[in-house]
Amino acid sequence: MISPFPKITKQGWKTLDEMVETHTKRQKAFQMAGLDYNEAFGLAEQMWERDLDLQDDRRVCFECKHYKDEKCEAIRTKFDRPSEPLRFILQRCDFFKLKGTK
Ligand code: SF4
Repeated sequence: MISPFPKITKQGWKTLDEMVETHTKRQKAFQMAGLDYNEAFGLAEQMWERDLDLQDDRRVCFECKHYKDEKCEAIRTKFDRPSEPLRFILQRCDFFKLKGTK
């Protein structure tokens, strides 16, 4: 029988163990940021599916280099302060920059 893993994802080839590890890390991070278990698990699930769909370019702010201290440094309020982004929603954002990139 041919294993369905490894699979190609947005982050390159991943084994099932690696994907589960990423899922667990995301879930814990979302819980630390205020979601309950089910909400955090659900969002991590959506991201799992997103990672496997190479056409899906949605992101959450947690993946963005502009996301700091629960605020968005790229989109400013009219008072020139960091805005409060939709942190727990997969979305397309014109200002998104992947963490760790220049
Ligand atoms: S630039 Fe977009 S994706 Fe990045 S933190 Fe701001 S709202 Fe979120």
